[in-house]
Amino acid sequence: MNKFLLIFFLFFVSNMSAQQTDYVDFKKINAFVSFDSKGKRLAMKVRYEFDIIKDIDSVYIDARNTYHYEFKESNFKIYSKNLDGNKIVFYTPAERKFETGKNYYVEIIFFSFPKSALYFVDNQIWTQGQGKYTSNWLPSIDDVNDKIEFDLSISYDKDFEVTANGELSNVEASDSIKTWHFNMNKPMSSYLVALAIGNYNKKTEVSKSGIPLEYYYYPEDSLKVESTYRYSKQMFDYLEDEIDVPYPWDIYKQVPVKDFLYSGMENTTLTIFSDALMTDSIAFKDRNYVNVNAHELAHHWFGNLVTAKSGEHHWLQEGFATFYALLAERHIFGDDYYYWQLYEYAQELLEQEKLGQSTSILDPKSSSLTFYKKGCWALHILKEQIGEEAFKQAVKNYLTAYQFESAETSVFIQEVEKSSGIDLTEFVETWLKVVELPQDAMVKSLKKSEFIQEYLDVSCDTYPSKCNDYLVSDISGKAKVKILSQESYNVKEEDFKNSWEVRQAIAQNLTEIPLELKKSYESLLNDKSYTTIEVALYNLWMNFPEDRSRYLEKTKDLKGFSDYNVRMLWLALNLNTLEYQSEQKQQVFDELKNYTSANFGFEVRMNAFNFLKLINGFDEDSIKNLVDGTEHHNWRMQQFSKNLLDELSQIESYKKIIDKLTNKG
Ligand SMILES: [Zn+2]
Repeated sequence: MNKFLLIFFLFFVSNMSAQQTDYVDFKKINAFVSFDSKGKRLAMKVRYEFDIIKDIDSVYIDARNTYHYEFKESNFKIYSKNLDGNKIVFYTPAERKFETGKNYYVEIIFFSFPKSALYFVDNQIWTQGQGKYTSNWLPSIDDVNDKIEFDLSISYDKDFEVTANGELSNVEASDSIKTWHFNMNKPMSSYLVALAIGNYNKKTEVSKSGIPLEYYYYPEDSLKVESTYRYSKQMFDYLEDEIDVPYPWDIYKQVPVKDFLYSGMENTTLTIFSDALMTDSIAFKDRNYVNVNAHELAHHWFGNLVTAKSGEHHWLQEGFATFYALLAERHIFGDDYYYWQLYEYAQELLEQEKLGQSTSILDPKSSSLTFYKKGCWALHILKEQIGEEAFKQAVKNYLTAYQFESAETSVFIQEVEKSSGIDLTEFVETWLKVVELPQDAMVKSLKKSEFIQEYLDVSCDTYPSKCNDYLVSDISGKAKVKILSQESYNVKEEDFKNSWEVRQAIAQNLTEIPLELKKSYESLLNDKSYTTIEVALYNLWMNFPEDRSRYLEKTKDLKGFSDYNVRMLWLALNLNTLEYQSEQKQQVFDELKNYTSANFGFEVRMNAFNFLKLINGFDEDSIKNLVDGTEHHNWRMQQFSKNLLDELSQIESYKKIIDKLTNKG
């Protein structure tokens, strides 16, 4: 290609690129995908179908990171250019124009080594489009406003489970390879395209409305299925009922993956979530998947069906998903739970405000906290203000009017004004535009809950005369937890008779254990909570050195949460209890060190690194694992590893090893 032509294309594309959706409507993308997972290479044949809305000279697709492509077939004569390695532009030299009202198609073969948006992790392959751009692995349209029907076919080793957006329509098998064909019937933005491959079993249910619900899990996690996916169907049925717009898609699947970038991602019909959220029935009380489950499901209406036109309107996705997830939880856990969460969201927002970091909801640069939790609060207040009926009607009208399209905040507000007959100028100003939180309105709303009112009222500082009786009274568990955190409160024997939640607060607050409470405190090791056990084990070990072996013996079979919180503490305490298992110290140390390796999820690894730091126990193997962590695809792990490595570099003996490993020595 000569220079003149290159300049021509650059000028041309930059001129029209922002508004291609005004000229071109991509209708369908059919991708046949195959992997060379050893080489982390991807080969694809993709067919694009598009309609021309207005005459235009060229059409582009976003194709980040494609190293080679070939045209196969098309119904127009192609001239093309890979622009900056980011876009492929089609141009028709013969006719000069793509003509209004005509349909075009083109088939292209691609080869690439995706560096983001598609990840090879151990024996899994999975994707993350939002924030990463799907066109890093699947050349398509990054603009959220062009909604396209994506149908994926994937060829892979027949021993694996393969899934992608939509219903499985057909499977073809040859010797060792299977091809899975998936079908979508409706269009969506490309950031919602997804696939996941790994070793999975699945459990299936059907919603009240007849939608298949599929819960994927690793074969070894079969005992965690019930507690992880608890309330899934109940929440699905509830949201369909509450939103009063049928679930817009044909199937709903949820798949855990290793070292995921976030908690969960609402890819249409295929929510992908972190396998660290797989919970057993004991962990469930302290940490579970319920909220993330409800949140990603709610996005299937708010985000996937109606998509925010631009960053300014992001709360139409996150604020709504947070609010409807909370409504689903209210349906299951009750009103007190609902108001308690609102109270906690308010605390977080106030904290942000104190730091001077509050923003308007409509500021595209807002924090997640603002989009999610201030957005949720805004909807809570709006519903309170206009009443349940008008609110429901407005949401239904909004979803119906803009289904399979994108929308702005103003059109939602118009729907609410229409259904309620109330002028929302003040609401929009206070909740969406102004930076500062309307604190008085928030407190007023929270106090509608007697549960919150009671929580705010109880205090040993304000009512010292009542203080002694609080823990044996019938105030709520949360109110008792508040009392326990107050300095003037002294824990008594009877206090241990409370619920697990209150007992956990005793474990956390009573760090110096009086001898007369030793027996009661030891009973905390029997509680069915990994948080309580972790804290109690540590405090008992610290307070009563003569009983250390007994405490370790009692907890030797526990792992704890998916990050092995109890086990990791146990190993560190064991190494510091010379009289216990004195012959096995090397084995114990090796186990702790082993948890830093890539065989484990990054949460486990981070935990193990922290304990090694605490006991000053790094060696070449664990430092090597830390150096590897600085290249990890998950930014949390990457950041953690870099920071810790910097810290270790300050220590001379470690610095030598680090320099050797990073070739600086
Ligand atoms: Zn979300």
